Amino acid sequence: MKLKLTLACLLVGSGFAFAQQNDMKNIAATNPPDVALAPLRYLASDELKGRNIERPEINTAAQYIADQFKAAGAKPVDGATGYFQLFSLRFVTPSATGTVSLGSMTFKTTIDALQPEAKDIKLDAPVIYADKDIAAGLPAADVKGKVVLVDMGKVNQSNGSQYFRGMAALQKTLTEKGAAALIERWNTDATFWGEVAGYLGGSKPAGPADENQLPTLIINAAKLDDGVKTAGAKASINISGTGVKDIALKNVMAYIPGTDAQLSKQYLLLSSHYDHLGVAAVPRMEEGKLDSIYNGARDNASGTTAIIAAARYFGKHPAKRSILFIAYTAEEEGLLGSIYYAAHPVTPLKQTVYNLNIDNASYNDTTLISLVGIGRTSADPLIVKACQAYGLHVGGDPTGGELFSGSDNYPLAGKGIPAPTFSLGMKTFDGTITNRYHQLSDEAGNMDMNYVMKFIGSYILAAKYVADDPIQPQWTAKDVYEGAWKTLYEK
Ligand SMILES: [Zn+2]
Repeated sequence: MKLKLTLACLLVGSGFAFAQQNDMKNIAATNPPDVALAPLRYLASDELKGRNIERPEINTAAQYIADQFKAAGAKPVDGATGYFQLFSLRFVTPSATGTVSLGSMTFKTTIDALQPEAKDIKLDAPVIYADKDIAAGLPAADVKGKVVLVDMGKVNQSNGSQYFRGMAALQKTLTEKGAAALIERWNTDATFWGEVAGYLGGSKPAGPADENQLPTLIINAAKLDDGVKTAGAKASINISGTGVKDIALKNVMAYIPGTDAQLSKQYLLLSSHYDHLGVAAVPRMEEGKLDSIYNGARDNASGTTAIIAAARYFGKHPAKRSILFIAYTAEEEGLLGSIYYAAHPVTPLKQTVYNLNIDNASYNDTTLISLVGIGRTSADPLIVKACQAYGLHVGGDPTGGELFSGSDNYPLAGKGIPAPTFSLGMKTFDGTITNRYHQLSDEAGNMDMNYVMKFIGSYILAAKYVADDPIQPQWTAKDVYEGAWKTLYEK
């Protein structure tokens, strides 16, 4: 009896191991390294100019992804236009010719003077220079009609969202006291300026205009000349030509029908964003090379490559559930592609039972997969099992939760769909991540391709396990999305 039980266990165990080896063999056969990595090398090449939504190359990227889906045997989704979901959004574009003078120093818009809210400003006024904390406490008589100049944040404070929260509070106080404008001087992390300039120097989604917003600028000035700090110094801001334009956008999508009579009515969504930051306004030296193209190899050519590889695998070895693939646009502008899709789904959201999104900043641990949203959905054990098959262990969000709302899983999670983000291994979110994250040096040539192959393989195997699992995934009890899940799926 005991022997029989042991034998039965061994047989069951080896049956599983055999099935897993077979799946891994099929994943490898449909995705030999040169084939699997070709989209990463192409999408991240200089030729595609950083896949910014305002550049024509993003359409080349979209067509390439559609062609890859088609070649894999994935079909166009009913309700889409071929392989595309076409839409357009209104953006505000900053002036490229504006100037800000402080004493004898002059700054240029989009280069070293940025506007959190792009709008025309024309004013001449005295400057008052103050520590940020002092500025908030200055009496109305001191700031009325003046341009208030402060140092942004504190030295060694490297959290972008802290800067902007602090700015909003100061704007409110200074508006009440009648200041003419606020100028914050970037004086902290010089390498981070490129990213800030890339974002604020480009087009931004047009929100509801706030006419009462205090005119505000951020200037990049490592040193201020002393004249600016003395009483009587003048500021002159001359910005015109900010505009509004509509930009045509494309989510790329396809699907592979499932094989099970019942489960095939449900969809597993595999998503990634394919856009990135484009080209820097001013080339700069990074790692001994003068560069201007944000290649976005990790972020997120690698993720898009993984969903293309998954299409290649499932095209030959379909799962029980149907698989929906979406390569989103405009993630870098604020998740705009996935927000649009969540509001205008092509496949009904209530048939979309799980979303394994994929997005990347960088990595600093090649034995790890970072599952952003770990511990929150019932599918975790399937993902862990898939990663272990490739010798990888699974960790969570190294920022302690900030990343969850920072990628395309988030709009669908809000609708109730269990939706974590699968990412390259980040043991910590420190300088070893930020030296590549949104930097010019995020290139395919400096990635560990052996690790990328394991990353892709484990992603596909995880997707297969979820797509074949008879149990519908759900948020864990008491998760903030548990209620939305029950509503969406009528549980
Ligand atoms: Zn990004």
